[in-house]
Order: sequence, then C-alpha cells, then structure tokens
Amino acid sequence: MSTSRHNHPDSETRGRIHSLDTFGTVDGPGIRFVLFMQGCALRCQFCHNPDSWDTAAGKPMDVEAVLAEIEPYVDYYRLSGGGITVTGGEPTLQAPFVAALLREVKSRFGLHTALDTSGFCEPSHADASGLLDAADLVLLDLKQLNNTRHEALTGQSNERILRFARHLSDLGKSMWIRHVLVPGVTDGYQDLLELGRFVGTLRGVQKLELLPYHRMGVYKWQELDMPYPLDGVPTPTGQEVERARQIIEAGRAEGLKLRAV
Ligand code: SF4
Repeated sequence: MSTSRHNHPDSETRGRIHSLDTFGTVDGPGIRFVLFMQGCALRCQFCHNPDSWDTAAGKPMDVEAVLAEIEPYVDYYRLSGGGITVTGGEPTLQAPFVAALLREVKSRFGLHTALDTSGFCEPSHADASGLLDAADLVLLDLKQLNNTRHEALTGQSNERILRFARHLSDLGKSMWIRHVLVPGVTDGYQDLLELGRFVGTLRGVQKLELLPYHRMGVYKWQELDMPYPLDGVPTPTGQEVERARQIIEAGRAEGLKLRAV
C-alpha cells in the first residue's frame, strides 16, 4: 500500500473521539475495542447517539493515545478472534485519522480491523485516505432502500450510500450488512424486498444482520432537549423480525440470480 497519497498529516494523527468501549461484543467478530468517532451528517430518527452528531464536539486524541488505550487488552481481542471496530457518529468523516489508526493497529498488534459506517461517504474520499485498504471488514448500515422514506428517516438521500455499497462490492470487500427494523418505518414488504434484492447483487456480503429497533437512546434525546421522532413506536416482536428476515432473504435470492447473469 502506498502512503504517498496520504498527505494530511494533521488530520491523520488527531481525531475527534466521542467515546470508547474496551469490551465490545456486538460490532464485529469476537471481543473488540470499539472507538466511537464524533460527527455525523445523518440525523436518523432512531439514532441512539445523537450527542455524536456535532462535528465540533468530542475529545481530540492522536493515534498514539488511542493505541495506548488498546494495548492492555490486545491479548483478549486476539484470543477471542476479535479486534478493533471504529464506529460513531460516522467514522468516514475522519477517514485519514481512522485509516492511520487502523494501519497502526494492524502493523503493531496484528489485530483484525472493522469499520462500522452508514456508507454516507464518496468512494473517492474513502480511497484517498486508504481507509478501505486498512479495514478487514466493513459493517455497512442500509437503513431504507426507498429514497423518499430514507430522506424522511435520516435527513439525507440514500444515493451516495448505495454508491458506496457498490464500490465495496466492486473491491470485493468483506461486508456485514445491517438493517435496523423499525415497525411502520423500515419494515414495509416492498422496501424489505428491495433491500434483499440489492444485497443479493453485492459481492463480499458475509452476514446480514437485522437489528430490532430499541429505545435505549431516548434519554439522550431528552438530555439534548430534542423531541424524539419515534415516540410511540414499539420494538418489533420476534415474529415481526422473522417475517422481515424471510422477505429480505426472498429478495436476496432474486438479487443473487441477477448477479449470476
Ligand atoms: S448514521 Fe448512525 S450516528 Fe449517524 S444519525 Fe444515523 S444512527 Fe446516528
């Protein structure tokens, strides 16, 4: 990998950090160090970290300071088949820093690296920083295939996200696709079918995770004095999750056929 194109030494070595978790078990394989980056351009109605939105907030840390937080636990991560996951907020907003960090984590500790992203990132931006080279796995959140409903849910179009997904597929990147299932918002039959079809056309998808919507982040909206947009929306039942899974898998089978021709 060339480093000559990584010409942002300041942004590479310092990032704005929201928080960190030394014992993550849900964002990638094994036990993981999870780094939450500050800043996000989306405004998802179900966001459980709205305090991560403001790009000017967070704690500035350099790569070495983050590595020092990881170092005491490296053996746990390695023995469990885990590693590091950088999430947010939106980590691609600070691509040069995250790329530099992941490269160091790999070369110094030999750990598995994952990037958890909304995909709201121009492929050229990610490539310029070497971010995708440095990530062994990308956890990609696909929130809503219908663009009108995507805009209502997140405040942004899904076009850039789908372009990013296609780019990952073209690169043959290992991916876990994640979809938050929100009753009445992201669980329409046609939308789930389209999601499945789209995922079926992607290469490199190792896993498709359906994440049932939960209300654990509501208190943060209250703390920020913002009205919670999904008030009254229930957590999906096991049956609803199973129904969604079946629809997505049916769509995925159709997408796979398209990919084959
Ligand atoms: S992409 Fe993630 S951090 Fe950003 S608003 Fe959506 S859920 Fe929150």
